Amino acid sequence: MNLDPPNDRAAWLDGPSAVCSSPPPGNTRPWRLILLGAPGVGKGTQADLLRQRLNACHLSTGDLFRAAATRNGCQLSPAMVIALGFMRRGALVPDSTVWEMVHERSSCLRCRGGFILDGFPRTLMQAESLQRLLHDEKLCLDAVVNYELPLDEIVQRLSGRRTCEKCKAVYHVSRQPSKTEGVCDRCDGHLCQRDDDRPEAIAVRMKTYEHSTEPLIHFYRNHGLLLPIAAQGSPEEICTRTLAALQKTPVPARPDR
Ligand code: AMP
Repeated sequence: MNLDPPNDRAAWLDGPSAVCSSPPPGNTRPWRLILLGAPGVGKGTQADLLRQRLNACHLSTGDLFRAAATRNGCQLSPAMVIALGFMRRGALVPDSTVWEMVHERSSCLRCRGGFILDGFPRTLMQAESLQRLLHDEKLCLDAVVNYELPLDEIVQRLSGRRTCEKCKAVYHVSRQPSKTEGVCDRCDGHLCQRDDDRPEAIAVRMKTYEHSTEPLIHFYRNHGLLLPIAAQGSPEEICTRTLAALQKTPVPARPDR
């Protein structure tokens, strides 16, 4: 079953007091996944495809910060203003701010449809905090999908990426162009290049990924959760590959089943 129109993820993007427009229905197997991979590897696109196939909610911390960036400055907390400065430079937002945002949205982790975390965790500290929270909530991860792609292909993907200002749909100027140049197929919104997809920010993000996020691969491998997936091919091919690998993962023994 496809979730169409997509859930607006209000509780995630606007905060826990907001109500989602069409929360996922309860699933017999609610998938709880983390997507890992270098910036530009296609996590956001895969998260959107997996959301449709698995009926789970797409929880992206990048979308959360971008949603905050479009708000009126006086609605932002001082911590968020500082966080957005880091984001625009392509640097990681401090762990304490990210964790505060995720922790206050922990109801999204209990979503009946399950969740697909995209862009979080990004540091060991975030991964350990999440592990503790999931344990307290009696929730288990099903898998941590790690998308793998050579560096030169990553840079090519990032520099051609375009995002809809309105609905955040992601396109690529050559791999996945919109029907009309610069216009979103879904909502007619304007397609733009994210500040952090500009060349100077890409270099910072790749360095940051190597230092901060790669250690997570070892962390989740040690927990027996890592699922490596080759990120070559079309988005549909990669998604099919991911679903096939997920079907082979055992159902984790968890107290909520
Ligand atoms: P993304 O869309 O996941 O590439 O995130 C865009 C930007 O948001 C990143 O370059 C960071 O500045 C910030 N960000 C998103 N998620 C995190 C996170 N888990 N930890 C720190 N910074 C983050």
